[in-house]
Amino acid sequence: MAISKMELNSLPLSLFHSSSKSSWYLQSRTLSKSNLHHHWSTSFQYRYRAKSKIVNAIGELKKEDIVIVGAGIAGLATAVSLQRLGIPSTVLEQAESLRTGGTSLTLFKNGWKVLDAIGVGSELRKQFLEIQGMVIKSEDGRELRSFIFKEEDESQEVRAVERRVLLETLANQLPPNAISYCSKLTEMKNGEGETLLKLQDGTQLSAKIVIACDGIKSPVARSMGYSEPKYVGHCAFRGLGSYLNGQPFEPRVNYIYGKGIRAGFVPVSPTKVYWFVCFNSPSAGPRITDPSVLREQTLELVRNWSSELLNIIECTPDDTIIRTPLVDRWLWPTVSPPASTRNVVLVGDAWHPMTPNLGQGACCALEDAVVLVKKLAGALENQTSAEDAFRAYERERWPRIFPLAIRANLVGTLLQWDNPLVCSVRNNIVIPKLVRLGPILEHTNFEFEPLV
Ligand SMILES: Cc1cc2nc3c(=O)[nH]c(=O)nc-3n(C[C@H](O)[C@H](O)[C@H](O)COP(=O)(O)OP(=O)(O)OC[C@H]3O[C@@H](n4cnc5c(N)ncnc54)[C@H](O)[C@@H]3O)c2cc1C
Repeated sequence: MAISKMELNSLPLSLFHSSSKSSWYLQSRTLSKSNLHHHWSTSFQYRYRAKSKIVNAIGELKKEDIVIVGAGIAGLATAVSLQRLGIPSTVLEQAESLRTGGTSLTLFKNGWKVLDAIGVGSELRKQFLEIQGMVIKSEDGRELRSFIFKEEDESQEVRAVERRVLLETLANQLPPNAISYCSKLTEMKNGEGETLLKLQDGTQLSAKIVIACDGIKSPVARSMGYSEPKYVGHCAFRGLGSYLNGQPFEPRVNYIYGKGIRAGFVPVSPTKVYWFVCFNSPSAGPRITDPSVLREQTLELVRNWSSELLNIIECTPDDTIIRTPLVDRWLWPTVSPPASTRNVVLVGDAWHPMTPNLGQGACCALEDAVVLVKKLAGALENQTSAEDAFRAYERERWPRIFPLAIRANLVGTLLQWDNPLVCSVRNNIVIPKLVRLGPILEHTNFEFEPLV
């Protein structure tokens, strides 16, 4: 992968993707020698060959242009967005494979817009039901309010997607070996032009650009001075009910509000239904993985609630039941570290963990991906630095992310009220008379520059 100055000076215009699957070419406008000091621009002035899988290579330094840490939603969406522009990347994932278990995520129109922009929207739409509206009930089964999404906003699109399918669909867009599994980042040295990355198996890499999509416990964010995300006082049990002969529910989100406990369920596909039960707890509690214990604890919380909910929980295969303490981190202006340091930038939960009360964590990770990639492509085009692109990304994303994280937190706090008097006011006055759908979904309006 060594680049000679001769090569650097003689490369032509524009990005393009060769017809060969194994060979990606990236070209930029011809540079004068004086531009060579632009390590960002110059990193792309050569022919790139598809990289072989990163294997144990103790002592050997592998050189990469763009390394993405984490093959979650943010990492894969970023890799696919880059690839749509003909820009290759290598994704490091600590696990042996994509996350195969897990439940589902509700994606709103902002998420779908991004999935369309990166070319996977229609493939996913075919597999997941469009959700028409939502109904809110009290724990005794009384309907408090219902809404139809398209009555409020014709362009709204809501579907719950299985996380596994979303990840696989994104990963399938990438060339073979673009994702390097069993590649846990353990150490990072952020230098002037390049960043040195050390993996758990001893492999060392140097990267011109590092895009950290390593999730809520991001070691990269920690190394940049971010605090641990903060526990917000409630935990969620979640699962994916399975009905081999077809699930019986209408395509709408069902919420049930109790005192200090709330639950919800939403049909995902003709055979699957996602559910959650959220409960107050003074501490995050121990990590429990035994599914029978998780199921028992969940049922204990909602024992006298609707039989529909209990049935879905009973119909849930063991491997999809999980318990998650909810956390977030607010990006206070001037107090929080910046989203990037030199050539390392944070994306998705690694930067802005938020509670799931608005269903926006993954949607925002998708948004981050396209905005960041557009900025990087602009920097490449204009021969400005990646650092400038990262700052522009942060300027654009921060005003969206910071208020959303706070709002999600406040909504969670209000919905987790356990005082009976307050809950009565909520169920008898606030929800039936004051709540309007428009403001609830206003944050799903999101515009971005097209990738191509
Ligand atoms: C209860 C709950 C419900 C939710 N519901 C919704 C919803 O309905 N709608 C919605 O939009 N969002 C929802 N979210 C939020 C959503 O799950 C997250 O925002 C989203 O998964 C973030 O994606 P990510 O790629 O940033 O992080 P992750 O999905 O966490 O991916 C991070 C990846 O990085 C890898 N990794 C970590 N460390 C390393 C390392 N050192 N080296 C290599 N790889 C590493 C991990 O293995 C993982 O694959 C919910 C969250 C919770 C907790």
